[in-house]
Amino acid sequence: LSSRASNILNSLGVSTTTEVSGVYDGEWRGSGDVFESKCPATGEVLARVKSATPQELHQALEKTREAYVSFRNVPAPRRGELLRQIREALAAKRVELGELVSLEMGKIRTEGIGEVQEFVDICDYAVGLSRMMNGRVVASERPGHSILEVPNPLGVVGVLSAFNFPVAVYGWNLALSMAAGNATIWKPSPTTPLCAIAVTKIVSEVLEKNGIPGAVAGLVTGGKDVGEAVVESKHVDLVSFTGSEHVGRIVGKAVMSRFGKVILELGGNNASIVMPDADLSLAVPAVFFGAVGTAGQRCTSTRRLYLHREIADEFLERLLKLYSSVAAGDPLASETLLGPLHTPTAVGTYENAIKHLKSIDAEILCGGKRYDSAPLDAGNFVQPTLALPKSVNPTDQIWKTETFAPILNAAKFDELEQAIEWNNAVPQGLSSSIWTRDLRNVGKWIGPAGSDAGIVNVNVGTSGAEIGAAFGGNKSTGWGRESGGDAWKEYVRWSACTINFSDAAPLAQGVNFPA
Ligand code: NAD
Repeated sequence: LSSRASNILNSLGVSTTTEVSGVYDGEWRGSGDVFESKCPATGEVLARVKSATPQELHQALEKTREAYVSFRNVPAPRRGELLRQIREALAAKRVELGELVSLEMGKIRTEGIGEVQEFVDICDYAVGLSRMMNGRVVASERPGHSILEVPNPLGVVGVLSAFNFPVAVYGWNLALSMAAGNATIWKPSPTTPLCAIAVTKIVSEVLEKNGIPGAVAGLVTGGKDVGEAVVESKHVDLVSFTGSEHVGRIVGKAVMSRFGKVILELGGNNASIVMPDADLSLAVPAVFFGAVGTAGQRCTSTRRLYLHREIADEFLERLLKLYSSVAAGDPLASETLLGPLHTPTAVGTYENAIKHLKSIDAEILCGGKRYDSAPLDAGNFVQPTLALPKSVNPTDQIWKTETFAPILNAAKFDELEQAIEWNNAVPQGLSSSIWTRDLRNVGKWIGPAGSDAGIVNVNVGTSGAEIGAAFGGNKSTGWGRESGGDAWKEYVRWSACTINFSDAAPLAQGVNFPA
């Protein structure tokens, strides 16, 4: 192991010498299949992680259930205090954990650290929430009666997460789930187990110090089989799944078929629209970050760009200048803006998309190849690509599918209505953005005939979000909501409690039923 990798792992208390245990349910274990964690920038094997056997998985699920049964009685503000301590412990390791995200996932250092900051922020939010998860008193039509809407802890929350946010997505879920009084079991991506182990170590130390069962925040690393077992388990009341549309469709059906609850946060295929009155000095860098940042591996990455014909040529010229300046390389180096794709398979997906663009005679304005000279050829580095397909055909795969790579397809339009139609013509509905100074355009964009996405921005790019608002998409992105806003309401069990304080027992709607 390189000294840099072992320094980062050592600083987080993750063993670097032997196979690492990838299961935690109050104790660390794991004697199932061994997964390799590989650095996408160099191909270096960072660790071998021992996942759960079916028996260990079963045991972890049972222990999580038991942990819920005791944890649900801990008062909510006290749960908030635990989250405050978790926040402090995470903040103390923000840099080290952020660097591990870069090392294992491949995003650049500032984004890796930013991802840990997101976990810290949502803990702050959940601390406040722990004193504000209020129900309601509803006016009853019957004299001497009151109706309460009461939120109680839900049970066990299974979090299945994607590789591209190996820390933050769990953070959004854990913070709300724990504030709500649930126990959480995490099945991370099989390619980012070290981030999950490092986070679980930090969280479990806080729980153990406070005498809370560690299985309140359990971990089961592994692949599809482990994911399926969590999804199918009757011990899991809510499955919060973040990943591809393809797997999300399977997970959604499986959970629904046993009447479990499900949150689906699936693929995005996000567009930016630039109007002729836009401030290009803001719009061009924002589109550049949206398309190239995280090497195009954010669910909110900008994949489609609709330019008003009046400014299209100037916009593309300015954007191309930024593309030609991009520094690809070691994600941990301060000058790097472009890290690698996460896996060699993703490079294949990128190359297929480029092949398809060529087959439909799209103009490739820049990029289009992997980096094939040293040192980048040791990793999964691809050139950020800007393409101008001949037309917008919403049924063509280039427009309708999410290619998880830095490929931006541009097109020119004449009327805003046309651009909004293109924006909405894809199956996905996660993020969208318009660049304009004209209030009338803003009104159209955010109104009933505007963008149908879950995130509808104005003079802000598609990529990234703050934790305060509920995060999620519509249509094939899955309609789920996490993080801020009213998202916490998904993590509780709601009861409508009608209480009769009177000496009579009238029926509702004036129904008369003499006994
Ligand atoms: P993926 O669908 O391949 O895997 C996601 C998780 O599902 C992993 O933990 C995986 O092991 C597990 N899994 C795979 N098959 C399963 C099965 N049959 N049953 C249960 N679990 C199973 O996704 P990925 O490649 O890791 O992540 C990229 C995708 O995630 C992109 O589509 C991206 O847009 C999406 N994503 C969405 C959001 C959002 O909030 N909308 C956020 C991040 C990523």
